[in-house]
Amino acid sequence: MARYTDAACRLCRRESQKLFLKGERCYSTKCALERRNYPPGQHGQGRKKVSDYGLQLREKQKAKRFYGLLEKQFRNTFDKAAKRKGITGENLLIMLETRLDNTVFRMGFASSRKEARQLVNHGHFTVDGKKVNIPSYEVKPGQTVAVKKKSHSSAKFKEIKEFRITAPAWISVDVDKLEGTVLSLPVRDEIDTPVSEHLIVELYSK
Ligand code: SF4
Repeated sequence: MARYTDAACRLCRRESQKLFLKGERCYSTKCALERRNYPPGQHGQGRKKVSDYGLQLREKQKAKRFYGLLEKQFRNTFDKAAKRKGITGENLLIMLETRLDNTVFRMGFASSRKEARQLVNHGHFTVDGKKVNIPSYEVKPGQTVAVKKKSHSSAKFKEIKEFRITAPAWISVDVDKLEGTVLSLPVRDEIDTPVSEHLIVELYSK
């Protein structure tokens, strides 16, 4: 599968925003954005004027990178969101938030979305007791995501127990059991993703 292999911090610098792609480092003073808060490249400090299209493109790129998706996956999610009832932009964010890899990250069982995706791929999680290793799996309200019993003793999860992220209100987490339940679908106010989703809708509606 195609994947982004260049330096993750360049993506944050390009968007001039923390996208939290590198786990603990993102919360420390080692974060590249703390030291070089301007776009990468030769003309990084020279770019100033941005067209409407440029703004829309940047919001889309930012959202895509925040959740660690490639263009095709992101576009497919948008198309599904557009077919659902309600506001397309909000539907899109809700669908991105309730992906299994993002839910695992939000529950604090991984230090970044990238790590969450890898842990899901390696079969460390169950949903309602059944093993699920598909990062894009959409977790529904009432479902419980848990670290597989066999994985509890691994150093990874012992370490993760210590690195806690406060879970959002739409999720409840039992750290000792290494499991969490999706209480409801998140509403827009509960999603802290720093994007203006209406610009993404405008871009894809052209
Ligand atoms: Fe982005 Fe994290 Fe790198 Fe900071 S450390 S620039 S938040 S990926």
